[in-house]
Amino acid sequence: MTEFADGIEIGPDFVRFSQRDDIFSRADWDPEVAGPKADAFYQGYFMAGAKARPVEGFTLRDYALRNASWHIADVFSDLRRGDGRHEGFTDLFTAHRPGSAALADLPAPARLTAEIKQIARLFGADLVGIARSDPRWIYRESYRRASHSAVPNALPEDLPYAIVIGKGMDWSLTETVPSALAGAATGLAYSRDATTLVALAQYIRNLGYRAEASMNDSALAIPLAIQAGLGEYGRNGLLITPEFGPRLRLGKVFTDLPLEPDRPKRFGVKQFCDRCRRCAEACPVKAIPFDAPAATVHDRSNLIGVTKWTVHAAKCFGFWVNQNSDCSICIRVCPYNRDYSRWYHRLWRATAATWMRGILLWVERRLGRGERRPAGWWWKRLGSPNE
Ligand code: SF4
Ligand code: SF4
Repeated sequence: MTEFADGIEIGPDFVRFSQRDDIFSRADWDPEVAGPKADAFYQGYFMAGAKARPVEGFTLRDYALRNASWHIADVFSDLRRGDGRHEGFTDLFTAHRPGSAALADLPAPARLTAEIKQIARLFGADLVGIARSDPRWIYRESYRRASHSAVPNALPEDLPYAIVIGKGMDWSLTETVPSALAGAATGLAYSRDATTLVALAQYIRNLGYRAEASMNDSALAIPLAIQAGLGEYGRNGLLITPEFGPRLRLGKVFTDLPLEPDRPKRFGVKQFCDRCRRCAEACPVKAIPFDAPAATVHDRSNLIGVTKWTVHAAKCFGFWVNQNSDCSICIRVCPYNRDYSRWYHRLWRATAATWMRGILLWVERRLGRGERRPAGWWWKRLGSPNE
């Protein structure tokens, strides 16, 4: 029987995902994905392996910025590398001091939830929502690169809530994708995510409650973010939010703090994506589907039994490896990728939820929005007195 989890259609054949099948894990063990080129891609995040070249967007300066943007996330990841852990990527964060042995007096759940959201923002989150921790999205097993094998997921199963946070990626860097420079937007969002998640989990521990900070490890972030009311699922396989469109990274803190969950939020993304295919057209390796949402399984990296738009992860990652940096073309070209601090973009968002979406799409194409800007534009802009 098909069931719906807050707008996510789940079939009777649903299987919880194993992190061993994640494309980044497969780059470590699966001969179909792993190999010298994938190794070189990862080595590029160390300057000695960066392979900078005199090509706009891939110079030493571009790699220097990209790799520095990842630095804080990498420091956390490396803290217990000797134990085979990659915290934030395959393992929960452990950079915590002991919390309080006594439980703090807390306000009622509604007030406490409002407070915790403000504190998450104080620590650097751009978006915050609360979901019930849905076991369907928790990895049935984690991955350990040191042994190239699946290991039990260390996330305790009795933490009832997930505080899901979103960190916006820099708009101007993303405009230059594909480039190594654009990868700085990704790294920076992860580094900021890591500090926010660890601080938020420490705060909850200091109140005497339990909290586990998690970035890409332990659970699928997008379905939890949908359940936490942060946005909708898009054709490009990403969360689309009213505040950043698809231009953000996600993290979560699992906790037993008595919170009030949010409700999913719809603002017309499904209907817009039904008509728009910009990401599918722009993807250089055609990894994004042109068709309606389906329970498609391209290979073992896809979730089984969920009806949605499913990206061909191996094709996508292959492009990253070939260009020697991550790609976010499907973020750059997405019409929802806008600066919503401006009223006319908020007006666009409201109009995109109406029958006028077709007209908006036509205008988008005529204006050529989403075209790549050269990395030189970004470096020059950096020196401008208005920046
Ligand atoms: S990240 Fe790049 S290669 Fe991957 S799906 Fe998006 S556009 Fe395609
Ligand atoms: S580019 Fe268009 S089809 Fe793709 S996610 Fe954005 S709105 Fe949806």
